Amino acid sequence: MKIAILSRNESLYSTRRLKEAGEARGHQVDIIDTLHCYMDITSSNPKVRYMGKDLPQYDAVIPRIGSSITFYGTAVVRQFEMMGTFCVNESVAISRSRDKLRSLQLLSRKGIGLPRTGFASKPDKIRDLLRNVGGAPCVIKLLEGTQGIGVVLAETNKAAESVIEAFMGLKANILVQEYIEEAKGADLRCFVVGDKVVAAMKRQAPEGEFRSNLHRGGAAKLVRLTKDERATALKAAKAMGLNVCGVDILQSNNGPVVMEVNSSPGLEGIEVATHKDVAGLIYEFIEKNAKPHRNRTRGI
Ligand code: ADP
Ligand code: GLU
Repeated sequence: MKIAILSRNESLYSTRRLKEAGEARGHQVDIIDTLHCYMDITSSNPKVRYMGKDLPQYDAVIPRIGSSITFYGTAVVRQFEMMGTFCVNESVAISRSRDKLRSLQLLSRKGIGLPRTGFASKPDKIRDLLRNVGGAPCVIKLLEGTQGIGVVLAETNKAAESVIEAFMGLKANILVQEYIEEAKGADLRCFVVGDKVVAAMKRQAPEGEFRSNLHRGGAAKLVRLTKDERATALKAAKAMGLNVCGVDILQSNNGPVVMEVNSSPGLEGIEVATHKDVAGLIYEFIEKNAKPHRNRTRGI
């Protein structure tokens, strides 16, 4: 098959692994820099232009859209969808999962376990918001944050109010969330491909830190999921409409709760921790499912 990886950086572990794994399975794999794609939308025959030429008709596209380029990146994916190219994750699903509030609303609609979460645009609602999530300690998150940056643990109501006021003063969108203390600074990353959790790891925050992101110094190890955790991860992926994703789960006293669903999950941490060929499994999915005009939403 002819397959394109949309990525800004061909030297990233995930991008390199995807190229290697695809070629090892006999595919032609091109790495296309998302921001260098441009589009001719007026013609009846949609195209993606790249380095002065039309890109060929690919059998599949693997979008690896970083959160800083969601807007343009999803427009490029949408253009491939208009051309009938099979996209491993569709543009609508990527946009949906990038928006923490929209994701939480969709997950809650499907009855998936979530930490209690509040959101308001005005500081005068702070006290009530805090009360609703059970008061301090609570977690305050920047809506646009990633890799644990912009996630704050407020230990007292006073601290929470000050942090919320400060963020709101900067016109930042934030959410306030119940702190799942019993997770003890650990979370589960469940890597979903199609309708299976193909690999899972437990990430533990370093001493004195509650955020378990590997970028924040967290350590990862292989974990066996319970049936409930596995089912929650699959339900979350389905609610988002993502075929390939990382579902982050906290183990709470009330069972698994989903924190977020990542549409471009990194391969390095999970492949190293689990010794699984996750990249190869993504191609297995593509080989089974990539047919022209198979996209569900066509970007709308
Ligand atoms: P990001 O998208 O920046 O990674 P997350 O919402 O995943 O932000 O939060 C980063 C880390 O902080 C999580 O991996 C988890 O370890 C911790 N964390 C986030 N929310 C909570 C919460 N409500 N209770 C306990 N720990 C949390
Ligand atoms: N119209 C799109 C769909 O049916 C978007 C819905 C949404 O994400 O809220 O998938």
